[in-house]
Amino acid sequence: MSEFLELEALDGIRMPWNVIPGTKEDAVSCVVPVSAIYTPLKSIPDMPVVPYAPLRCRMCRSILNPFSRVDYNAKIWLCTFCFQRNQFPQHYSSISENNLPPELFPQYTTIEYMSTAETGPVMPPVFIFVVDTCIIEEEIGYLKSALAQATELLPDNSLVGFITFGTYVQVHELGFGLLPKSYVFKGTKEVSKEQILEQMCFFAGKQKPTTWVIAGTRDGLSSESISRFLVPASECEFVLNSVIEELQKDPWHIPADQRASRCTGAALSVAASLLGVCVPGSGARIMAFVGGPSTEGPGSIVSKSLTEPIRSHKDLDKDSAPLFDKAVKFYDQIAKQLVHQGHVLDLFACAVDQVGVAEMKVAIEKTGGIVVLAESFGHSVFKDSLLRIFQSADNGLGLSFNGILEINCSKDVKIQGIIGPCSSLEKKSPLSADTVIGQGNTSAWKMCGLDKKTSLCFVYDISRKVGPDTVAQQTGEQLYLQFVTYYQHHEGQMRLRTTTISRQWASGAATELIDGFDQEAAAAVVARLVSFKMETEADFDPIRWLDRALIRLCTKFGDYQKETPSSFSLSPRLSIFPQFMFNLRRSQFVQVFNNSPDETAYFRMTLERENVGNAVAMIQPSLISYSFQSGPMPVLLDATAIGPDKILLLDSYFSVVIFHGITIAQWRKAGYQDQEGHEAFAQLLKAPHDESDAIIKERFPVPRLVVCDQYGSQARFLLAKLNPSVAYNSDNPAPGGDVIFTDDVSFEVFMDHLQRLAVQ
Ligand SMILES: [Zn+2]
Repeated sequence: MSEFLELEALDGIRMPWNVIPGTKEDAVSCVVPVSAIYTPLKSIPDMPVVPYAPLRCRMCRSILNPFSRVDYNAKIWLCTFCFQRNQFPQHYSSISENNLPPELFPQYTTIEYMSTAETGPVMPPVFIFVVDTCIIEEEIGYLKSALAQATELLPDNSLVGFITFGTYVQVHELGFGLLPKSYVFKGTKEVSKEQILEQMCFFAGKQKPTTWVIAGTRDGLSSESISRFLVPASECEFVLNSVIEELQKDPWHIPADQRASRCTGAALSVAASLLGVCVPGSGARIMAFVGGPSTEGPGSIVSKSLTEPIRSHKDLDKDSAPLFDKAVKFYDQIAKQLVHQGHVLDLFACAVDQVGVAEMKVAIEKTGGIVVLAESFGHSVFKDSLLRIFQSADNGLGLSFNGILEINCSKDVKIQGIIGPCSSLEKKSPLSADTVIGQGNTSAWKMCGLDKKTSLCFVYDISRKVGPDTVAQQTGEQLYLQFVTYYQHHEGQMRLRTTTISRQWASGAATELIDGFDQEAAAAVVARLVSFKMETEADFDPIRWLDRALIRLCTKFGDYQKETPSSFSLSPRLSIFPQFMFNLRRSQFVQVFNNSPDETAYFRMTLERENVGNAVAMIQPSLISYSFQSGPMPVLLDATAIGPDKILLLDSYFSVVIFHGITIAQWRKAGYQDQEGHEAFAQLLKAPHDESDAIIKERFPVPRLVVCDQYGSQARFLLAKLNPSVAYNSDNPAPGGDVIFTDDVSFEVFMDHLQRLAVQ
């Protein structure tokens, strides 16, 4: 596994197959598709940033890279992808084997270009806060202090806007000095750019242009009119703070049997159109803070009557969520508008109720937005995550904007699509495959928002057929993949990052494929695929699909004698994969009925933007055991891990659980840790907290920390994740451990079935 981690550290890429199946038929029989999870802006400490523009092939536009063959005498380079011969330009004339430009150094397969000629002016990032006021006073208080803290951390050069909403939408004029002023829109309808221009007096005292193609200063909008609503963070601290300070609960009376009138959709429509008018094509994010369900106007998810419950997975399944499709359609329109403008939607959903994350998902995901889900604006999951976004230190996200990602592939490799936060630019090329998965039909994608963590899953299609060509193929033949990301860096300039990687074609032997199999990457890809299919394919049966995939993989790559289950074994390269699939079947991504549609949408959006390591933590949580007998020890995710004298630390990505065995809990309640002579116990109690602090510090969104005791009500956070090896219906409960009340099959039963089916 370590060699895959080394490759990831170098280029931010992991692939399930690192030796590529040689033909289309082989690729299909490998079950897990040829694919890559790539983190375009991964922070790579030694990556060079060069102050000039890249050299491109004049045929296919791919970029010169360490794999390009160079004729130093003739000053010519051969394109890695189309084999075109390209002349080096004049300023490369001194190139020689001993005088290479950085982009040809073998170790710089990932490099950034920052050409001063091409970057143009440094663009200030724009943030529009869209704030829900239909929340109780206590929540308003939490939100106020979080927003005040966040605005202090905004980069000084950024522009800020402020919109509040409840029954109506209010756009606050921050550039108006001390007199607070705002524009009000009805909550019942979406608002177009034309209406914004008209109603917000962008042409006050001036001739209105005759055509409606007005947008931004380039098209003649005065910067004074824009700066009424978007103000430099450094200049608006006072006004912004006073607007935040005066935030008040929506004044409209709510009858006792009704929900608040909350026009989330209209507010986001106003924000999108305002950005479209003021800063089209320049990096901007709408940060929405929502404290309850949308009940008014476009994008509503439930009626105001409290007798009608908010849609559940059961309702969606039975097609009895009347507002769902309409709301998704509305947010799909918002997504299109934002992608066209190059802007991002971020959502901070903080409520005990659902707010409509499931409906908004399309707009967040296609624009590369961030989503954080918490119970309250006072919860650390929200507060700390919000601060983390703006922290500039290494822990910060490095929010970047306006990305366009393009790819190049060797002959016989095509792209089916991307599963992840981006939007297809529908630029169909010879590289796009006929079959489409996720954002496809293209070889270029828009990434309105991207950061150091954003990770995309590329699903390829191998088009090579068996024929005279493949027979002549020699072992060790290489193929190449290139990723080119052009984006607005968090410091403002435009940059271009290229990553070029090389992998070997398989010549036919299964052992070659097995040696190149990265089972963690495979689990992450399969998790994205199954989530995607569950959302897009009607009547898709995830359990059946996963089981069949696993059986086919084991039949192809396992060692066994036919019809003899006991003879079955897997190479170490594949041996954990069944366990990943077992846990994926039980995970929140597949067992959706234990969660609300909002939670499911949140889990999936987070999965779909994370790298392989984090995806694996979501699929198969890690468990560490602490006791007097030994130091911290990783243990199997199994009910037998529980013991009265043990402390367990579970990291399931979204939550971190510290679980005290019953004896430990009793000692703690008796206060032994504070008594002299019990320093070792105090240390034992503290150790898992130190570890959880370290995990929480690194992670975004910040996970929920649960500290609980055996048999306590919160213990379910641990028990739900454990293999039910000692379920209440087990014939022979193992000694120790905890009985888990579930009808799920245990891992042993699962493996037993798998071996029987694989050898048939
Ligand atoms: Zn070329």
